[in-house]
Amino acid sequence: MTINATLINYLHLCHRKMWLHYHAIRMEHTSEVVAEGKLIGEESYPQRADKNQEVEVTSPWRRTSPPAPLQVERGETATPPAPLLYNERGSMDNVVLTAKIDFFDAKNGVVYETKKSAAKEWAHVAQVQFYLYLLRKNGVEASHGIIEYPKLRQTERVTLDSEEEAKVEEWIEKAVAILENENCPPKLPISKCKSCSYFDFCWVGED
Ligand code: SF4
Repeated sequence: MTINATLINYLHLCHRKMWLHYHAIRMEHTSEVVAEGKLIGEESYPQRADKNQEVEVTSPWRRTSPPAPLQVERGETATPPAPLLYNERGSMDNVVLTAKIDFFDAKNGVVYETKKSAAKEWAHVAQVQFYLYLLRKNGVEASHGIIEYPKLRQTERVTLDSEEEAKVEEWIEKAVAILENENCPPKLPISKCKSCSYFDFCWVGED
């Protein structure tokens, strides 16, 4: 199983969306969205590509902190997750982490992520924290991230301390548990679905 930054982003939006995306039920034409985000980044910050590089990072999943019990958050359905199979080294052999970072300033250790949305979301922060986590796992000095919102003319600085690293590990385990479950997670309330690319998939035909 491969856990990437898109899945970590979706984990913070909707578990069902993450599950559908992972199981190749695609409505969002991801590559176009990613390409569009990169293009917006290049057009909004024309010097960006000169000073930064595209980086692909991969790492086998191995915990650095002891496993925590999975939390069921308020409003979530308490579907029992599939058991997480750790080996004696505290890793799950079948899980690989991967990320493709469009702009990384290797000299200063800064990840840049551009979002075309007109609203800041926690999922964006989680995605960049996953990048920082994975870079550090590969021995790369990664100081912080900057999320740029050209439509808002705002930026968000993202850091990752040791407590937050443990949180990233919890997200990875939570994502694995949800994705290993053969049942698609339940829908969110429709009020949270209006701008989701899976809206028709989830709601057309529903009264
Ligand atoms: S439409 Fe709603 S329930 Fe369906 S995947 Fe999107 S956010 Fe989740």
